[in-house]
Amino acid sequence: MHYCRINDIHAGRPLNQKIEIRGWVKTRRDSKDFSFLEINDGSCLANLQVIASSDLKDYADIVLKLHTGCSLLIQGILKESPAKGQEIELHVEQLEVYGWADPARYPLQKKRHSFEFLRSIAHLRPRTNSLGAIARIRSSLSFGVHKFFQEQGFIHVHTPIITTSDCEGAGEMFKVVAPPHTNKEEQNDFFGKPASLTVSGQLQAEVYALSLGKVYTFGPTFRAENSNTSRHLAEFWMVEPEIAFCDLAENMNLAESFLKYLIQYVLDHNEQDMELFANFIDKELHKKLETVLRSSFSHITYTEAISILEKTNKAFEFPVRWGIDLQAEHERYLCENIFANPVFVTDYPKEIKPFYMRLNDDDKTVAAMDLLLPGIGEIIGGSQREERYDFLVSRMKETNLNLDDYDWYLDLRRFGTVPHSGFGLGFERFLQFVTSMNNIRDVIPFPRTPGSALY
Ligand code: ATP
Ligand code: MN
Repeated sequence: MHYCRINDIHAGRPLNQKIEIRGWVKTRRDSKDFSFLEINDGSCLANLQVIASSDLKDYADIVLKLHTGCSLLIQGILKESPAKGQEIELHVEQLEVYGWADPARYPLQKKRHSFEFLRSIAHLRPRTNSLGAIARIRSSLSFGVHKFFQEQGFIHVHTPIITTSDCEGAGEMFKVVAPPHTNKEEQNDFFGKPASLTVSGQLQAEVYALSLGKVYTFGPTFRAENSNTSRHLAEFWMVEPEIAFCDLAENMNLAESFLKYLIQYVLDHNEQDMELFANFIDKELHKKLETVLRSSFSHITYTEAISILEKTNKAFEFPVRWGIDLQAEHERYLCENIFANPVFVTDYPKEIKPFYMRLNDDDKTVAAMDLLLPGIGEIIGGSQREERYDFLVSRMKETNLNLDDYDWYLDLRRFGTVPHSGFGLGFERFLQFVTSMNNIRDVIPFPRTPGSALY
């Protein structure tokens, strides 16, 4: 007999049939003639109630010794449940233990644990309701990302993890070196030049956009920044579309419809798991998401944002003046207090943005856009790219880039250049937004942060 997954059983309710399940005990409760087991197999948030009668031959030896965390195979008949609390229950005919879990040592007893504690047992935390729900939502949204782009004719490109070009030019790259051999110099010369872990797939995505038109990449991204915040990881996942024949305004429209699509997607496909976050993490979660779905995102320029911030009497830790990079406190003040809406901030000073962003006619600002969300701050960073050869070369010189290293990038402007744009969405920041989880370390299975890289 093939075993059933519990989500299929709840959906299909094959009453009065013999079925088999495999999973882990959440709880056991005994009454006079029965034991009640709550079984979870990870397929969904809901457990399946299992009734084990004291008539079973191994009742005393097995059933009465079961505790939270034991793994089981159970065969039985699915019945309508007479009691309140669940609609169906499985009446055991046969039960086998795969593995015991000593209650004196198993750390996940039936009580609520802090997320901080759960982080210290990241190998067991996916067995909890909340981390299991996050894993399912993450999987579902990852599929949703592909669905959104594939439905619109985007082509998925696998950009390299190991790279020899520094996209952001901010020196936040992890070095990649080979193990030391007899010849010490080889260590840094495996690729013939210094190599790093990618901070963005954008430059390589541009190559494909300028051949295939509409592309996206979705992969791991690495930043060696010493930011110990609840919004930064050293390893995170980024979704980066890159579109030929696309200006900044179209780029922002795409970002807005992408974000709304993903919110709708998770509401449609992960209803039960989303309820958990609405019940235990943020009572206003549905309201927050509905508001974003219904809203039209706001737009302001960086220069307008600065003058708004200068006029408020709020005391910021980082003083505001034209030319500064907006800090999280400024971003959140703008979208939470001033707009109470998602906001695109555009046209930043060229000095605080990377070389590849398109220079505006004022000669001072570039066609950049950051999307700010309430509670999160920056979720998306993007721009129209500089497609004009001469402008690009002079920006590269200003920022002291070695033109020879980027000759391939300049070729894209020498031969058949076109206006093009793109953006990067931080996948974990988005997961934080849709679940209202406070710490980014809890929306990725194995977080890597300064001082911590377990497993
Ligand atoms: P921030 O200013 O918040 O540090 P950034 O401007 O350095 O972000 P970008 O280079 O624009 O970020 O990257 C695009 C997106 O990737 C960001 O909008 C954000 O959602 C996400 N992101 C950037 N850095 C991190 C990080 N260290 N951990 C998780 N997500 C990140
Ligand atoms: Mn950014």
